[in-house]
Amino acid sequence: MERAVWHPSPNFGPRRDGLTPTLVVIHYTAMSDARAALDRLCDPGAEVSAHYLIGVDGKLWQMVDETMRAWHAGAGEWNGQDDINSRSIGIELDNTGAHPFSEPQMAALERLLSEILTRWEIAPTGVIGHSDMAPGRKCDPGPRFDWTRLARQGLARECRVGTAAPEIGTFRALAQSCGFTADVPEEALLEAIRLRLRPWALGPLERDDMAALAGFSSGS
Ligand SMILES: [Zn+2]
Repeated sequence: MERAVWHPSPNFGPRRDGLTPTLVVIHYTAMSDARAALDRLCDPGAEVSAHYLIGVDGKLWQMVDETMRAWHAGAGEWNGQDDINSRSIGIELDNTGAHPFSEPQMAALERLLSEILTRWEIAPTGVIGHSDMAPGRKCDPGPRFDWTRLARQGLARECRVGTAAPEIGTFRALAQSCGFTADVPEEALLEAIRLRLRPWALGPLERDDMAALAGFSSGS
């Protein structure tokens, strides 16, 4: 792939406890454009960063070396593990959150993900959204992000929805088995799971949520 443009951020540190990346966390910037996002992600006063930023035109910037701990994930948990920053590589997509992701941007993301998963031997199940690990606190990459597209290429976990729908009473346990272990109210958990699996769904927890979660649980 084309080389990333190096745009160093001072906002990083060593990964703790000798951890190496086992996750990739996808974000959107919620900012007006890539320049504004770069400024913020490299501002020492903002104390935030990510390893990569991808512009709407597919341009790729790298701000933090992959071996280092960037500051993108914050408080949260995935698969029973916290300090997600020490365990992950963070990718920001230039998007306000109010419009679709462009084709060049998605194509660049796919190329980058493919390289990262190979380089660090990360399984597709390790590619998550910010909202997956911080339910109720974060909602990016949001309802317009095409997880199915990534999954079809082995760049995210598949959701193989079948006819089976476990009892609604098993919602929390099934969610936890998929990785959604953050200790949040059921409403926030459902919102995060729908962002990932059924972004168009509304209303209380229903049978189709359980079927989707079961399909996600069996995906690889
Ligand atoms: Zn985010």
